[in-house]
Formats: sequence, C-alpha cells, structure tokens
Amino acid sequence: MTRVDAPGGPGGAAAPPTVDAACFLCGAGDADPVWTTPDRAFGVPVVYTVARCRGCGFLYQRPRVRDDHLADCYPDHYPRHQEPSPRVPFKGSSARVRAVRWALARGLGYTAWQHERPGLLTRLRGRRLLRRLRWDCPPWRGRGRYLDVGCGSGGALGVAQSLGWQVAGVEMDAAAAAKARRFTARLHVGDLQAAPFGAGEFDVISAYHVLEHVPDPVGAVRRMLGWLAPGGLLVVEVPNAGGFGARLFGRAWSGLELPRHLSHFTPETLGRTARQAGGRVVWCWHQAKPRYYLWSLGLWLRDHGAPALARACEWRPLYGVLKLLLELTLPLARWARRGEVIRIGIERAAQ
Ligand SMILES: [Zn+2]
Repeated sequence: MTRVDAPGGPGGAAAPPTVDAACFLCGAGDADPVWTTPDRAFGVPVVYTVARCRGCGFLYQRPRVRDDHLADCYPDHYPRHQEPSPRVPFKGSSARVRAVRWALARGLGYTAWQHERPGLLTRLRGRRLLRRLRWDCPPWRGRGRYLDVGCGSGGALGVAQSLGWQVAGVEMDAAAAAKARRFTARLHVGDLQAAPFGAGEFDVISAYHVLEHVPDPVGAVRRMLGWLAPGGLLVVEVPNAGGFGARLFGRAWSGLELPRHLSHFTPETLGRTARQAGGRVVWCWHQAKPRYYLWSLGLWLRDHGAPALARACEWRPLYGVLKLLLELTLPLARWARRGEVIRIGIERAAQ
C-alpha cells in the first residue's frame, strides 16, 4: 500500500486510510498513474491518483479511500445534498404548456398527454423544448414506476411525480433524504445494495452521478437491472473522462473530483460496465455545459501559477463573455461525441 500523507486539512482532519484495490472492471492488478491531484473542493488531506489499468484501460482512483471511510470524504455542504427545487416541465403560458405536452408525447412516449393536433408553432416550439426536456424527464415506460438512485433532495423525483410517475428513491445522506421525503415515503436511506426493492418493481430507474462514487460499479448496475420490469430502462449519467475537457485540462479537469470519484468512465468503459452487469446499451448522449469547462480552466490556471487570472475569469462580466463564447462552440463537443457528461440508456440483455 502506498500512501502520501499531508500535514492535515484546515480542520486538522486525519487522512482517510486507503487500499490498493485492483481494477473494478477486469480485476487486473497492474495500473499506471495518469493524474495526481489534492481534494480541490473540500480540502480532504492527501494527494490522490487516477491510474489506467494495464489490462483493459479503465481509469480508476488508486490507491483509493477505504470503503468504510468513504463517507468521511463528503462534508455536510456537499452540493448534491442541497439542490434547488425540481424543474417541473409544466409551467409558463398555456401555449408553452401545449408545446411541452406535444414534446413529451412525441419525443418521450407520454402518449397520454397528446390530445388535439397542435398547430405548426406549437410543434416548432415543442421541438426546441424537447432538447431540454429529454434531459429532465424520464422517457415513459410500462406502468410508470420510477426509482431514482442517489436522489439527493429529490429534484428528479419531483419532476417525475409531476409527470404522473409513482416514485421511489435511494439516498445515502440522511439530511438530503429527509427533503426527498416530500415526494414519497418509499425512500431507502443508505447503500443501494442494501435497498429492499424486489425484482421487476420499476419501469425506469435513473442513477445520475452515482456510479463514479461507488466501489463496485458493475455490482451496482447489476443490482439496478434486477429491479427493472420486463421492457424497463436504466438511465445512467457520469462525467466523461473521454471528452474534450479531460484531454485539454488533464489533472485540472473538473470531472476528477478526487477522492469522491473512484471511477472515471469513458463511453467505452461505461458500456463495458453495463455489459458485464448483464445489460445492453441502447443509446448514449453527450452533454457539454460551459460551467464544466470554466471550472476546469480555473483549476488549470491555479495549477500553472496564475491564480490572479483564475480569479479574473470568475469575475462576473468576464465569466459571462467566456460562457457565451462556449455556448456557441459547445455543440461541437456534442456532435463530436466528446462531451463532458455522458448519459446512457441500458436495458437487460436477452437471457
Ligand atoms: Zn482493467
């Protein structure tokens, strides 16, 4: 076991113990270090390393924080636990609501929302709204039973409930779970492997930014696929270590989030994880938001001895200009399939 000890964080916190675990995907023991960084967000002491498996190319934290100490790496003000209100789709003018209904029915399988034949303007507006809606709303399947794993304070549960789903959640953090309870009593607080759901209970399950945090991603996907009803869909979203951001910024890439991210997936390794767990990838989407690149840029400038420039980029007017420039160029990252975030749909492979 190798471990780099630091003098201690601002609060004098002790370094969490680490283990030299093998590759999560192929089990190979050999790996080469790729990126090394401290905990940028919360100052957990110690420097952490991402290594690439020599057997299969998978990127993972090594050595990694021991399972029984992972919770120590999440402070109370962890952002996932303090989300804003759910972005419910039905709001605004009646014309907008008509366009939303059309988009949901046409693009996401919500046939119950389709009533009259809408005019051309409604359809054009709906088409534009659909781009955003498909990231916020689960596609309709089966009888409308939805589970969000890692539901935080319940943002996705609130959206799904407003669309007519019966919802349930899993959340590790008790304070966040208490907020999510406003949407459902079916809430498991704790590890997903220990959640008491039965086989085939859900039509759609989502796990947004969960898989990169768990010590056994294949086991996590297998567990969730087991809860799917026939014809069900599992939707998984993670940062993309194969995108332009990781390539450009390297150890300053904001998606590293060490030590909380144990795995760093690319579309290829995420697909392999799904297949090893008994699934089949049915689609893969790429997302690229300006703030991901701007976070990485700030970290990169600080790493390169330019903290003043990093602060300048956070100065609102300049940040606004950079954000606008990125808005114009980011569709390129999506078209090139090199986005900052990937979301994949997984069905159970035929037995
Ligand atoms: Zn491997």
